[in-house]
Amino acid sequence: MKVSKRAQDVPPSATIAVTTRAQELKAQGVDVVGFGAGAPDFDTPEYIKEAAIEALKAGQTKYTAAAGIIELRKAIADKLERENGLKYAPEQIIVNIGGKHSVYEAMQAVLDPGDEVILPTPYWVTYPETIKLAGAVSRIVQTKKENGYKITTAQLKKAITKKTAMLLINSPNNPGGFTYTPEELKAIARVLEGTNVYVMSDEIYEKLIYGDTKFVSFASLSEDAYNRTLTLNGFSKTFSMTGWRLGYTAGPLDVIKAMGRLQSHMTSNAVTFGQYAAIAALGPPADEAIEKMRAEFERRGKYMTQRLNSIEGVECTEATGAFYCFPDVSGHYGRNIGGATINGSMDFAKALLEQANVALVPGLPFGCDNNVRLSFACSLEQITKGLDRIEKWLAQ
Ligand code: PMP
Ligand code: GLU
Repeated sequence: MKVSKRAQDVPPSATIAVTTRAQELKAQGVDVVGFGAGAPDFDTPEYIKEAAIEALKAGQTKYTAAAGIIELRKAIADKLERENGLKYAPEQIIVNIGGKHSVYEAMQAVLDPGDEVILPTPYWVTYPETIKLAGAVSRIVQTKKENGYKITTAQLKKAITKKTAMLLINSPNNPGGFTYTPEELKAIARVLEGTNVYVMSDEIYEKLIYGDTKFVSFASLSEDAYNRTLTLNGFSKTFSMTGWRLGYTAGPLDVIKAMGRLQSHMTSNAVTFGQYAAIAALGPPADEAIEKMRAEFERRGKYMTQRLNSIEGVECTEATGAFYCFPDVSGHYGRNIGGATINGSMDFAKALLEQANVALVPGLPFGCDNNVRLSFACSLEQITKGLDRIEKWLAQ
């Protein structure tokens, strides 16, 4: 039987594919070190689980408004005002079924066939596919290592055409682990003034920042930025709630209403008792729970960066955010390692998994074939073991 052209054109998520493959090998008894996962390895904090259990016991098991219960939308509005300096009415907020759904639905709500979306590399693997599914076209901007893999204002100006409908900003970045400074974002915002370009600001890693890195919400930069920005966020990374599937979008009322109409047909509401747990998540114990995880990620990220940089032919900038190292490994391209010719990140990742049992994600599906992504959302012990293996494998 036939499969639609649309579906045929979409490859599986490379990040999920690597994680699944590593899990399969583990189940077969292979001692794999998995650096693939884009998910915190901590359990969801107890106070959040308790709130879900209480909601279940209280009978919160039925449909809610498709866009989410008003109490949660208010709690998100309070959070955005308190922490991000953003004033949104609850009606300007929609609760989605995970941040991935926020990305998909927001694109469906604002993009038309032929529209262009400026997508700086490295980008999360899901963006180009969701752009394509909306009938739009990715205008990929290749960033430079010397610019910290961030888009410059000159590159942005050059990339804007009459068809540009959106700019994608993901800071802290997956897979790059970098964060735009407030000044860099302000400069980008100024370039967009006078255009009709939306900004999709994916802020899902906002709480995972390291050293003296400062996070700022794009929409808070100016009134102009506020009016053009879709602020996307979720509970997966901050609260280690990847399996709960809870994300949200805040933005111009018309767009959020359009998303609500789509959602009323596509999925309806996010899981009801999960929404009650999300209210609790944003409550007072949040800071302490988040800090514990953040501090641990910072420690691991530092260690991983230092170990990677000590390997010849590997160059890694220390992550300022998220939980990924994205080293340039192209120093090893052209080599034959253990019988495999390494001509790019796909070869690198495949040979490393087969020969040394370390799973990482090739940079190619993120738009950077010189790099590979290693997640440090795993124990220091695993990081040490995995890096020992990589070091030994490359030293052959
Ligand atoms: N945005 C980015 C940049 C991500 O890395 C992810 C995936 N972890 C998401 C959005 C979506 O996460 P989720 O669907 O779990 O909320
Ligand atoms: N976003 C995470 C990652 O990049 C989780 C997997 C996915 O949804 O793509 O690994």
